[in-house]
Amino acid sequence: MKIDAFIGLGSNLDDPAGQLALAVSELAKLPGTELVRQSPFYASRPVGPPDQPDFINGAVWLSTELAPHALLDHLQAIEQAHGRERLQHWGPRTLDLDLLIYGNQTLQDERLTVPHRELAHRDFVLQPLLDLKPGLTLPDGTTAASLRAQCPDNRLRRLTPPD
Ligand code: AMP
Repeated sequence: MKIDAFIGLGSNLDDPAGQLALAVSELAKLPGTELVRQSPFYASRPVGPPDQPDFINGAVWLSTELAPHALLDHLQAIEQAHGRERLQHWGPRTLDLDLLIYGNQTLQDERLTVPHRELAHRDFVLQPLLDLKPGLTLPDGTTAASLRAQCPDNRLRRLTPPD
């Protein structure tokens, strides 16, 4: 059975938009997985240490047979292949991939919190999700649109036109 999974992408090092574009093509090739839609990309001020470049963010909607932890394994393998180093919490990074939403499931263990724990507070995550699916609802019934209306402003700038 295929599940709708939403993945957040972010980068602020080494040609961030290129990192994201390559990651989208890699996500589309995951086993048992189809790319349903890709969001526009956005630039935003970094959360965390301010002395780092702006982030480029986007999201994709996948339809996948992969179980959540198997999907996370693939996301982490793609991050590693992009040369990601974990030097500083919330610091600069080549590629960050987050499992934002997995169907209507709520998961909480040592590796995985779904929906992603920062989703509700980040316009650069919520806006691409809304571009993908304007009526998106979290497992608890909260709408992504209501969260977007309440969350802090990171001065998002849209970089690519809507599809
Ligand atoms: P980050 O620095 O944001 O890439 O965090 C990576 C860590 O978050 C990894 O150890 C993951 O196991 C953990 N994690 C927990 N929930 C999620 C999620 N929904 N998506 C991605 N990583 C997650």
